[in-house]
Amino acid sequence: MHKIKVRSSEREEMIDISADVEKILGAEDAWDGVCVVFTQHTTCGITVNENADPDVQSDMLGFLKRLIPQDEPHFKHGEKNSDAHIKSSLVGCSVTVPFENGKLLLGRWQAIYMCEFDGPRERKVIVSILGKARTK
Ligand code: ZN
Repeated sequence: MHKIKVRSSEREEMIDISADVEKILGAEDAWDGVCVVFTQHTTCGITVNENADPDVQSDMLGFLKRLIPQDEPHFKHGEKNSDAHIKSSLVGCSVTVPFENGKLLLGRWQAIYMCEFDGPRERKVIVSILGKARTK
């Protein structure tokens, strides 16, 4: 089990953590299997989506923001971040990604993102690997 520290610089942001996850596979000499990428936080999320056009990320964040405004008058939660809690549950707190030959089997246009909904702050992401090492 490994932890990645991810530092966000805006309230809402999608940060590509694919390279950090793949680095762990390399360090562990993990060759074939699956890895679970999970966060223990309640106001961010983990997802897999397009890494080619940055407009996809801004459209996703923009749509969620319009769907769930931070200043929704019916929210009661005193921290004033109920929008972030809801977005976190909609996006989910983990993804499972298979890997082969030590490389994530992401599609050509896919990346693993930590979705910040209540930044800026430092987040911890857990990477748990289930698989076998390279046979020598
Ligand atoms: Zn809260």
